[in-house]
Amino acid sequence: MSGNRLNDSKVTVKELRDFMKQFVAERDWTQFHTPKNLSMSIAVEAAELMEKFQFVSNEESVELAQSHKQEIAYELCDVFAYLLSFANAADIDLSSYYMEKMALNAKKYPADVARGEYAKYTKLEKN
Ligand SMILES: [Mg+2]
Repeated sequence: MSGNRLNDSKVTVKELRDFMKQFVAERDWTQFHTPKNLSMSIAVEAAELMEKFQFVSNEESVELAQSHKQEIAYELCDVFAYLLSFANAADIDLSSYYMEKMALNAKKYPADVARGEYAKYTKLEKN
């Protein structure tokens, strides 16, 4: 996988996971890419993404995501890279678990009840 001319409609999750696995293996980093370390790395990189939006309004964040797209995309990809490596380290099939979890979320947040509401599912009014 060459890496720089792919896009979301042309690549599979497996290809991205394989690319990440090779990237890690080539640097002999597999020993460091444990579930513990990777869970922390995901949070660290998520915090770096959050830092880009610290102290701006929701409206400004929408503008910032466009005006600083590359640097924000790079932070998002840092999260994604560690997420892919976690899936490799823990042998988690992201697509199947993602769909399974989203089905659970759909039950917790039925569209007709949750539409336009941001409340946690335990606080949603079910009619
Ligand atoms: Mg980063």
